[in-house]
Amino acid sequence: MSRRIAVYPGSFDPLHNGHLDIVARCLPIFDELVVAVLQNEEKQPRFSVDQRVEMLHDVLRPMGPCRVESFSGLLVDFADRVGASAIVRGLRALSDFDYEFQMALMNRRLNPRVETVFMMPKEEYSYLSSRLVKEVVGLGGDVSGLVPPLVLERLRT
Ligand code: ADP
Repeated sequence: MSRRIAVYPGSFDPLHNGHLDIVARCLPIFDELVVAVLQNEEKQPRFSVDQRVEMLHDVLRPMGPCRVESFSGLLVDFADRVGASAIVRGLRALSDFDYEFQMALMNRRLNPRVETVFMMPKEEYSYLSSRLVKEVVGLGGDVSGLVPPLVLERLRT
């Protein structure tokens, strides 16, 4: 039987516990999860792509069969390159739905071999986003419990 590989794409700037919740839900379902950091999305990211890849790698390694890579260009082409049959996306609130629905259908049109799978996080993470984490940290607020300890440490430096 062929291995079930999924790609979980995003900016992860920075990685937070909502992302980790989705990763943990994927691991029992797929044989391997390729967490893919999108390059060149934001002009002024908090962390470089290399720093994000490194942090993801350190945090995800003990969780199970995850690989971390960065990519640019079409996500469905990247999925093909790594042999993935699924793209995983997290759905927080209804506000995510419109955009995700459009992307999923466009990606299916571009490459019908790759299926998009949506996952819901624990309710307590359903309001969490990297943008909010950065805003709170920028204003001196406490985000412990919302990001992994390694990310918390790096946000403070
Ligand atoms: P953000 O910057 O909004 O946190 P990313 O681009 O890094 O988002 O998100 C990568 C993927 O993780 C997307 O599929 C996004 O919907 C999902 N995601 C982001 N935050 C959460 C969360 N709190 N709960 C579940 N999924 C999430």
